[in-house]
Amino acid sequence: MTDRLYYTDARLDRFTAAVLAIADDGRRVVLDRTAFYPTSGGQPHDVGTLGGIAVVDVIDDDERIVHCLADPIGVPVGSMLVGQVDMTRRVDHMQQHTGQHLLSAMLSDEFGWPTLSVHFGDETNTVDVACDDFDPTMLAALERRANALIVQNRRVTVSFEDAADATGLRKPSDREGELRIVTIEGIDRSACGGTHVDYTGEIGALLLRRAEKTKGNTRIEFICGHRAVSRARVDAELLTTAARMLSAAPHDLPGLVEQQMQRLTEGERERKRLVADLARYQATAMWTASIPDGDGVRRLVVPVTGPVKDAEPLAQQLVALGFCAVVVTNHSLGGVMMATAADTGIDAGQRLRAALQAVGGRGGGSPRLAQGAIPDASQLPVVLESLGFLTPLPEPLA
Ligand SMILES: [Zn+2]
Repeated sequence: MTDRLYYTDARLDRFTAAVLAIADDGRRVVLDRTAFYPTSGGQPHDVGTLGGIAVVDVIDDDERIVHCLADPIGVPVGSMLVGQVDMTRRVDHMQQHTGQHLLSAMLSDEFGWPTLSVHFGDETNTVDVACDDFDPTMLAALERRANALIVQNRRVTVSFEDAADATGLRKPSDREGELRIVTIEGIDRSACGGTHVDYTGEIGALLLRRAEKTKGNTRIEFICGHRAVSRARVDAELLTTAARMLSAAPHDLPGLVEQQMQRLTEGERERKRLVADLARYQATAMWTASIPDGDGVRRLVVPVTGPVKDAEPLAQQLVALGFCAVVVTNHSLGGVMMATAADTGIDAGQRLRAALQAVGGRGGGSPRLAQGAIPDASQLPVVLESLGFLTPLPEPLA
């Protein structure tokens, strides 16, 4: 059995203990007592060193705590070892955990939303509360209220009470025997095995970042202490960078971004209009310069370097001029598109499908517009010939 030193002293960072058991070639160590907090109750484990070797994980194994080491310890059972807990990480966890007690108590007592579950992460934390119609505009007011309670600097104490006699607990415990109870003076009494600060003032600050609906409840993201300030700093840097790119003040960003989005939409609409105009002019020039075949149909080959689909506006404009059949080709990708005017009587879908299949390609479409590809682009002249296009291939359009 391991004596949990953090139960009574969350600030204890250095301790000496005897080795009770060793496993995994010296990489797993059980001590008679420890200040290392194991992952439990949602709070992540501590890190640090044991006998000078890095502690990478701490596991709660019923009555024992297992320290997982980066390298084998190389000492026999019964040896005395010095443990050193990384207090930067520990204090951060104490701030997050105590902040959560305070936040959960406030949300339950003042707003009637009991906490359903809690998650503590490396970067951020969340509480899920029983509230199905959360208004996100309340976040600022909730955050102000939580920080007001923090500033009141209320005492946080730990007591050990018999489960049968422990009254006023936020959530009744289903355990029997002795309970470890964490009390925030005048605010909360909860059975909890985690590590906490001694006064609410040590939580430092509580930042509510956002709220989202989850399975009919509300998940609220919160960060406490130094981490809240660091996160606010990162957010401020991001805003400043974005604002600098738009030569604006961070305050003006939302309006400006909306304005830019609108301009982008308008620009895209205008671009499409110009592409259509250009296609019309190009088509007229190409159609006029072409010479009809014996059947009166003008057959034009339009090689392109990009996707053949991009040349669809041009092909459509060409066939719109009548008595015209167009094949768009991409010589490196083996892409082919065919468009025909109705008055040619040529079924683009049928003709192209047959021509592509003959050289192992695939494709098809409607009688007026069809598209496909062949695996070996060097076969394109064969495809063109079987489509009745004998025109020598001109240089691709840029
Ligand atoms: Zn706790």
